[in-house]
Amino acid sequence: MSRLLLDDVTKVFDDDGEDIVAVDGVSVDIADGEFLVLVGPSGCGKSTTLRMIAGLETVTHGEIRLGDQVLNDVKTQDRDIAMVFQSYALYPHLTAERNMSFGLEESTDMAKADISERVEEVAGMMGIGDLLDRKPGQLSGGQQQRVALGRAIVRDPEVFLMDEPLSNLDAKLRAQMRTELQQLQEQLDVTTVYVTHDQTEAMTMGDRIAVMNDGHLQQLGEPLELYHEPSNLFVAEFIGEPSMNFLRGRISGTTFVTDDLEYELDDDIVAAAEGVDDAVVGVRPEDIEVLSRARVGGDSGHEFEMVATVVEPMGDENVVHLSFSDDRAEDDLVAVTEEPQAVEEGSTVVVRIPPEMVHLFEQSTGEAVH
Ligand code: ATP
Repeated sequence: MSRLLLDDVTKVFDDDGEDIVAVDGVSVDIADGEFLVLVGPSGCGKSTTLRMIAGLETVTHGEIRLGDQVLNDVKTQDRDIAMVFQSYALYPHLTAERNMSFGLEESTDMAKADISERVEEVAGMMGIGDLLDRKPGQLSGGQQQRVALGRAIVRDPEVFLMDEPLSNLDAKLRAQMRTELQQLQEQLDVTTVYVTHDQTEAMTMGDRIAVMNDGHLQQLGEPLELYHEPSNLFVAEFIGEPSMNFLRGRISGTTFVTDDLEYELDDDIVAAAEGVDDAVVGVRPEDIEVLSRARVGGDSGHEFEMVATVVEPMGDENVVHLSFSDDRAEDDLVAVTEEPQAVEEGSTVVVRIPPEMVHLFEQSTGEAVH
């Protein structure tokens, strides 16, 4: 069983007598064969979490378990775990083949011929079968990353740990490797923890995503669950591109009131928000409707005149920056609209925020109430 359990895991670093809490009480139960993505901004503690699982950092408090075994005091080399780093960490003086076989030779008593066969099999799987004689300096970044991944795979570990393995690749290769890696993980069915700061990578690759901020686990769930039901403002802003729009105001009866608008809330939101006064309405750019003149009217509590300050054509869609007043420094809303609904820059448009698409958060805590 390769179920990996993090139970209330905490890491405190001592920085010249000052305590730095890098990871604060994180609990995650990762199923056998699951692909879990740990995502969050720089400094949120994701690498430290991964390094504790690998045994490269000690655990200050809490427990890490793999199957029935508590890993806390097990040495790195005795954990059945393979790690892939952003930097690839290949030996420059060894060929790709030796880079892949070296670990197996050191840590197992497998026969040389069996190791060779295994390396060739994995190299074939990774599409680097004809590059095995080359040294890292003679390989592209993408090829080096394949060797690094291949080195992890030949060990046939119980767990893969990956720390931003694609971030040194260009955008196109990164997108391709994202798909390949995901397929490979599915095929190998090895429990995987993958660290990234890139929400697109998290959304497209993970079976589940753990969002971290400031050492804390903010939310754990399937990608679409995080997208549709973010549990707080941080997750709502972090997941989704462009980011969710936020409007700050207060609830008065069934109406959400800001300096710029009076918005009619749906009954179920009003019921959920009972007792909440200061609130934040969140709406995703792709849920906002920028209406043509012909379609305006009839939905007064949800439609507003706004100025389209900037229109960015993206090919199949436009990103429209909207302001309640054309002399504002910052956008009030950003909408993503599909062509052929062309919007002219500087024009006044009517914007509809569909009430069923609205997320509501309590201002003081940032927690979702709906
Ligand atoms: P990044 O994406 O930038 O790598 P991260 O989310 O992986 O960030 P960590 O590297 O886990 O974040 O760092 C979490 C916090 O712990 C940061 O505030 C960092 O400065 C601190 N930290 C990490 N390693 C040490 C250390 N050895 N000594 C002291 N503080 C550390």
